[in-house]
Amino acid sequence: MLDFPPDEKVLRQERARARELRRSQWWQNRIAKGRCHYCGAAFPPKELTLDHVVPLVRGGRTSKGNCVPACKSCNSQKQSLLPLEWDAYLQRLRQDEQKSMDSENPESP
Ligand SMILES: [Zn+2]
Repeated sequence: MLDFPPDEKVLRQERARARELRRSQWWQNRIAKGRCHYCGAAFPPKELTLDHVVPLVRGGRTSKGNCVPACKSCNSQKQSLLPLEWDAYLQRLRQDEQKSMDSENPESP
């Protein structure tokens, strides 16, 4: 289990690690793809932000598995919504994705 809530020292440390991760080749490769992890829309790499899937304040850590590229709108939604509302938002995104896949040329390749 993770410590919860983390103390200020841990948060500072994890934020510093996030800054380092943002400079890494791994991160550059991720944003070079230009896709938001959540809504799947395409963005210029500079508009993608590093987002912690499990927020640091909820016990998440700065690891490659917990850091994803997110567009500004998903990022601000995530910050303004309650965890439950955010989950509902993600579910809606997935449903929309499913619908658009179904409607896009069902016969193609
Ligand atoms: Zn997004």
